[in-house]
Amino acid sequence: MTISLRGSRRTQTIWPRRVAVLSVHTSPLEQPGTGDAGGMNVYITHTAVEMARRGVAVEVFTRATSSEQPPVAELAPGVLVRHIPAGPFEPLGRDELPAQLCAFTSGVLRAEAFHEPGYYDLIHSHYWLSGQVGWLARDRWGVPLVHTAHTLAKVKNAALAEGDKPEPRTRVIGEEQVVAESDRLVANTPVEARQLVDLYGAAPERVHTVAPGVDLNRFVPGSQAGARRRLGLPRDAVVLAFAGRIQPLKAPDVLLHAAAHLLQRQPELRERLVVLVVGGPSGTGLEQPQALRELAVSLGIQEVVRFLPPQPGERLAEVYRAADVVAVPSYNESFGLVALEAQACGTPVVAAEVGGLPVAVAHGVSGLLVPSHAARDWAGALASVALRPDRRAELAENALVHARRFSWARTTDALLETYAAASRTLAALHEEIAV
Ligand code: UDP
Repeated sequence: MTISLRGSRRTQTIWPRRVAVLSVHTSPLEQPGTGDAGGMNVYITHTAVEMARRGVAVEVFTRATSSEQPPVAELAPGVLVRHIPAGPFEPLGRDELPAQLCAFTSGVLRAEAFHEPGYYDLIHSHYWLSGQVGWLARDRWGVPLVHTAHTLAKVKNAALAEGDKPEPRTRVIGEEQVVAESDRLVANTPVEARQLVDLYGAAPERVHTVAPGVDLNRFVPGSQAGARRRLGLPRDAVVLAFAGRIQPLKAPDVLLHAAAHLLQRQPELRERLVVLVVGGPSGTGLEQPQALRELAVSLGIQEVVRFLPPQPGERLAEVYRAADVVAVPSYNESFGLVALEAQACGTPVVAAEVGGLPVAVAHGVSGLLVPSHAARDWAGALASVALRPDRRAELAENALVHARRFSWARTTDALLETYAAASRTLAALHEEIAV
């Protein structure tokens, strides 16, 4: 552990030399927007790269899902991904993963045992499955455990889409254990921080709120006409876009219902309206991968809706630029990176007023928040932005300003402060014990 004196206040900041990041169920090397890969992967990748830039080495441990994966891969200079064999070399459902945690933990402990003692200074676990592993490794290595939940079962279950399957009790119990065991908990927003305290009994002083970021080099404004040309969309279209993992919780069906409602109200729009849905099936959405296409047919809007498979970042930026509005209709969202990325491209967002979205979107300034999931309300909100060029232009300008308040560099600086606080507390505890 290095101790450096930073800044004019000469506060003692303890930065780790090397962090073990645990990401059991999904790898930062995967393409986000389908299956288990989403915002968490993007978060881990960007914060790891920023840490490495600051001289903090990062090693991400994830479960090996193919025998072709090398044991260790370099994600970026200073950032390694370690593929830990645990169970079959194939993707497993989240309900199957708890049974592999023992094998995974053993793999993590073995990897560490190849090094001199004290190789990792801190563990940062992401999602409750990783928290279970981190808790044991923390005890073995005598280092702090920082945990980010990303989503919480109790919160998800309180806001389920109609007919969607609730998160199992095993997860709730597992999360409660991880909350109790972590030295620090990182929440995306003050709302999540409250949920950790109120629903999971977290000690408030251990919860740090750290806003996620956005890649301000990749997600930049550009020509809407150019983006539409490259995506094969008509120049004069009215484009509403959704991007993310296709599952009931993300509610892309709300956008389709709203589009159908809009066309009922304004049939002349049918020639121009395009609803872009970008992403692949995920979670409970895997049970009915065709459900959204079938819904488009049953609503009679199949020629209006275009489906695109998960897109890499550069291409996704084109989607955001091509859109008049990006819709984020989720039933719950601990933050909503898509909302921030769209705004960074200068596109206003219409989002559900849930979870972290009121932080990601400034209501009436950079977009609109809708307090319901009713088609009529969504149709009204989307039309009030997409069909009013002056209003849209004003929101678009503010969206850029709003998004620029967030960056992965800022997120990483705040995470390092959290790491330092966790290390200070542990060091003080060790001193107390020594006395
Ligand atoms: N994403 C992507 N390609 C796609 C769809 C989504 O790369 O086709 C990325 C998107 O850029 C964002 C992430 O997936 O960073 C989704 O994050 P968000 O917080 O919106 O949702 P989550 O997946 O965490 O539920």
